Amino acid sequence: MRIKKVSHIAVAASDTQQAKVLYQDILGLNFSGSESVEQEGVTTHFYDAGESSIELLEPLSVETPVGRFLEKRGPGLHHIALEVEGLDDYVLKLREAGIALLSDEPQMGAHDMRIIFIHPKSAGGVLIELCEKT
Ligand code: ZN
Repeated sequence: MRIKKVSHIAVAASDTQQAKVLYQDILGLNFSGSESVEQEGVTTHFYDAGESSIELLEPLSVETPVGRFLEKRGPGLHHIALEVEGLDDYVLKLREAGIALLSDEPQMGAHDMRIIFIHPKSAGGVLIELCEKT
């Protein structure tokens, strides 16, 4: 059980075209693809940033978690994701420590990763995703 790296930093975007201009055209990050995750109501757009990536989150509708996030707070930093080995052990350890999680069990996320979120109220105001390759 260990943290391997920062997997990605996720940004809620209301204008993914504008973001593409910044990340790809100006900063020169390689666009590595988009993927819709129906369960989360979001399309993710990934840009490689060395060992990690920037993940732009585009809601599939306003009635989704990211849609409501944009409505309430506007575009901006949404979550940071840590890639781990031993996700299920981390979930047990977090539960034992009384840390609030957004779901009872890990869910399937983009890139065939199993993911679970730590609630911001248990993480200093930061939404933290733990993910593990399946
Ligand atoms: Zn993520």
